[in-house]
Amino acid sequence: MFWAGIIMSIISGVFCFQMAKEKNREPWAWLVLGLVLPLIAVIAISVSSTKKVQREEAGFSCPECGHDVRSEEKYCPNCGVEFDWSENS
Ligand SMILES: [Zn+2]
Repeated sequence: MFWAGIIMSIISGVFCFQMAKEKNREPWAWLVLGLVLPLIAVIAISVSSTKKVQREEAGFSCPECGHDVRSEEKYCPNCGVEFDWSENS
């Protein structure tokens, strides 16, 4: 019974690790969580949504007016707001 619990924890940890990688979440944090709380962690990672990437290569929506803007634009062509890429440089 004891070993069955250990094996369950390891399988759960590895499962959470893989799921977290696919969902852009912290794999090592989820691995530990899966080891400590096998069933709860598996359910939590299964229902959690994929983390969205901040800005997509193809383009994005203007935060002011929602107009579709290409990623190389510095100003919104619709409302003229200036974009701040400082976190990316
Ligand atoms: Zn705009």
